[in-house]
Amino acid sequence: MSDLSDLYQSVILDHNKRPRNRGKLPTANRVASGDNPTCGDNCTVYLQFDGERIGGISFEGSGCAISQASASLMTTQLKGKTPAEAEETYKRFSEIVKTGNAPEDFDELAAFAGVHTFPARIKCATLSWHAALEALKQPETKP
Ligand code: ZN
Repeated sequence: MSDLSDLYQSVILDHNKRPRNRGKLPTANRVASGDNPTCGDNCTVYLQFDGERIGGISFEGSGCAISQASASLMTTQLKGKTPAEAEETYKRFSEIVKTGNAPEDFDELAAFAGVHTFPARIKCATLSWHAALEALKQPETKP
């Protein structure tokens, strides 16, 4: 098990060091922001929604390591998904973060299972996901 937690630790460190899909997405047609005042995190998610699927996704923001790594992971997980699939993925992530119950097979989402022992940080981990789901509900905007 400790090998697995090392592996999960390295997933978070890696997303912190090399955030994926960070910065404005020039082709975005949906955008939403969220913040987490208790920790000082903020996150804006840019989505390119093609009417069926998330064709492109990026984020901008600042805050603690958990919030930034989670935002980076979120973009890699939601790209290519339909809104229903995105919702489903978020539910899985939120369940892991809140309960610490990780699936038996390796799953990048489970890297954040340790967050459940710090209830105040759960909002850090889910901030960007809320923003992404919110962006999907927004009316189309011109970039
Ligand atoms: Zn935070």
